[in-house]
Amino acid sequence: MEIRDNFEIKNLTTYKIGGKVKKLYIPEKIEELTELLRTLDNYIILGSCSDVLFSSNGFDGNIVITTGLKNFEIRGTKVYAECGVKDPLISQKVSEASLSGLEFLIGLPGTIGGAVYMNAGAHGQCIADVLVSACLFDKETKEIVFKQNSEMDFSYRHSMLYDGRYILLSAEFELTKQPIETIKELMDRNLTFRKTIQPSLANPNAGSVFKNPENDSAGRLLDKAGAKSFEMPNVKVWDKHANFIINKGNATSEDVLEMMVKMYQAVKDMYTIELRPEIIFIGNKTKKEEELCNILYKTKTQK
Ligand SMILES: Cc1cc2nc3c(=O)[nH]c(=O)nc-3n(C[C@H](O)[C@H](O)[C@H](O)COP(=O)(O)OP(=O)(O)OC[C@H]3O[C@@H](n4cnc5c(N)ncnc54)[C@H](O)[C@@H]3O)c2cc1C
Repeated sequence: MEIRDNFEIKNLTTYKIGGKVKKLYIPEKIEELTELLRTLDNYIILGSCSDVLFSSNGFDGNIVITTGLKNFEIRGTKVYAECGVKDPLISQKVSEASLSGLEFLIGLPGTIGGAVYMNAGAHGQCIADVLVSACLFDKETKEIVFKQNSEMDFSYRHSMLYDGRYILLSAEFELTKQPIETIKELMDRNLTFRKTIQPSLANPNAGSVFKNPENDSAGRLLDKAGAKSFEMPNVKVWDKHANFIINKGNATSEDVLEMMVKMYQAVKDMYTIELRPEIIFIGNKTKKEEELCNILYKTKTQK
């Protein structure tokens, strides 16, 4: 397993933001991961770091990256995938086997672990629709347990993994047979739609900044509140979709948090709706960041 000391994590994140972490581990086998988790304390598990804002002040602890855990298997209509399997790769592979249900993952730059954690979804599909069972590491008992879909507490961009007790080791999905052409057509549509409204990773970002409030869209509310014109020296809101913040090159985590508060405040002032972040903040906070996070992250389920 690859182990790095005092590692600057910035380049592993899609935001290209993040300071040094005490130790970084990249296991390559599930057994290596479980062994490690039985001995390690003060750690955070991450996949492709595409849904996180990592502190520019780093993290005084251990980071475990799952991207070395990339085995998967397709058996009939069932798919087994380890937590580090990349979302677009599995989407592509199941489509080649004429299996429908994961077309939405084609444009998500994350891993299965991150996708299950937040019940990732797009284009009317989500993880909760297709997950059968999850193989988890229980941090309290240090045992491996299996949970069925009904036990995962899935809701919009939420699962039981949010409370931090369990780590996803692997997941099993049940998909449906469809003609390859139909599946490919849907994947192409999904990608084309993304290209027209979402920034590519050449403009460093971590996807949607805020979750959609009930029966509305965060992007629509932010647009109406004028967020598309918001710009600061190091960050700006994407001009084609108001729910994305772009790192202009030298942004810090504090710059992004400041922009998030500006966006949050604009929608609150106009609609009295308090948007909740989808992006997860990780790492040490400065005093200013503590204040900004206190405004943005108010519920217990948000780190
Ligand atoms: C351009 C762009 C577009 C995006 N579009 C979408 C979209 O349409 N829909 C959507 O839902 N998301 C979207 N995302 C967000 C993100 O890519 C996905 O949600 C992705 O699945 C997250 O996976 P990750 O590996 O990057 O997670 P990370 O960012 O590495 O981690 C996210 C959270 O998951 C936890 N986690 C990761 N692995 C595990 C594990 N094995 N066990 C337990 N917890 C774990 C982490 O601790 C962290 O809290 C987008 C992001 C970008 C940059």
